[in-house]
Amino acid sequence: MSDCVFCKIASGEASTRILYRDESVTAFPDIHPLAPTHLLIIPNKHIASVNDLEPDDEYLMGHLILTARQLAREQGIDESGYRLITNTGVNGGQTVFHLHLHLLGGQRMKYPMG
Ligand code: AMP
Ligand code: ZN
Repeated sequence: MSDCVFCKIASGEASTRILYRDESVTAFPDIHPLAPTHLLIIPNKHIASVNDLEPDDEYLMGHLILTARQLAREQGIDESGYRLITNTGVNGGQTVFHLHLHLLGGQRMKYPMG
């Protein structure tokens, strides 16, 4: 996807502070942080949203969550807790249509959600 900002980050075409990258996922800070720790973890290949996942993406999605857990440890927020969010579609509040996990922590998250 030539016009997708997260594809450009995953490929290295757009510069950002890369916190983790391997052959299938990339993690970097959210440009508008909503918490003391606010990272995004994305698959390197373009998947628009959860709605566009294929059965073959099961391992990839597991890897995405385990990468988030590893980053939470590295950021020192694993014990205090954190929130993982994937917004999907208009009602979900999705604004970038390349699937991503938000990792939010470093403060008590607001509740209830929604
Ligand atoms: P969502 O609303 O769930 O689609 O989240 C998209 C997120 O991407 C927002 O929190 C934005 O602040 C963030 N974002 C958009 N462009 C960039 C960028 N170039 N680098 C880092 N974060 C970005
Ligand atoms: Zn993309």
